[in-house]
Amino acid sequence: MKKGKKIYEGKAKIVFATSDKNLVIQHFKDDATAFNNQKKDVIDGKGILNNRISEHILTNLNQVGIKNHLIKRLNMREQLVQHVEIIPIEFIVRNIATGSLTKRLGIEDGTVLEYPLVEYCLKNDELGDPLISKEHILAFKWMDDFEIDFVNNELARINDFLQGMFRGVGIKLVDFKVEFGRLEKNGKKDIILADEISPDTCRLWDATTDKKLDKDRFRKDLGNLVEGYQEVARRLDILHEQSNIRPLKYSKPKAVKFKKK
Ligand code: UDP
Repeated sequence: MKKGKKIYEGKAKIVFATSDKNLVIQHFKDDATAFNNQKKDVIDGKGILNNRISEHILTNLNQVGIKNHLIKRLNMREQLVQHVEIIPIEFIVRNIATGSLTKRLGIEDGTVLEYPLVEYCLKNDELGDPLISKEHILAFKWMDDFEIDFVNNELARINDFLQGMFRGVGIKLVDFKVEFGRLEKNGKKDIILADEISPDTCRLWDATTDKKLDKDRFRKDLGNLVEGYQEVARRLDILHEQSNIRPLKYSKPKAVKFKKK
């Protein structure tokens, strides 16, 4: 698979064309942004962890029948994915109230929601990704009724799976954001999960201490962002490449001395 020219650069990822028009390469950067790009930094190793964590989650989702764009991870920072036309909506699922929900509606931070709450935001940085309703989605023909029902059903399945997966390793899935794309197949357009699922796009709290293990460490200046993401990867048992995340200093192996018999 030959890597072609850059076709898109977002805040945390770059997309490259390949020799196959149906496939693209998704490259994970170390850039961190928050508050609609007002806060920015480069955090060593973040892209590598997100690449690996997202690969793990999307592979598992695929195994339980949730179709998504991942074909395979290519290297530390890149994955080969299906070339989809991204639907311009961010789908947010919340299990515990925090972040913009608490600010917007005055709900107490940490309130456990009786049922998962789904929110739709228009993907538009200039407008600050405004919250929209199902009626807006229908009125402006971003999706039809059938597609909205399909995506809502997928969101419930994804949430159930992720909540269980994270609970099993002592982590609460507070909320997350996902994106979907359209894929032309045999003359009809399928909708599949796309983008990424990682600590950049989820809120993950330690189940006993509520310690934040996600991008809120950056948003709220809590420090140790990479350590939080590493902790997530370690608990998911996928941190086998740790030595590559921060290059270890090479030291000459000590000569082994054997006792004389
Ligand atoms: N989120 C995201 N990208 C966005 C906005 C939100 O990945 O552009 C995720 C965020 O990490 C959190 C969830 O969606 O897991 C809900 O975010 P919220 O609206 O509370 O975001 P805030 O405005 O507080 O960053």
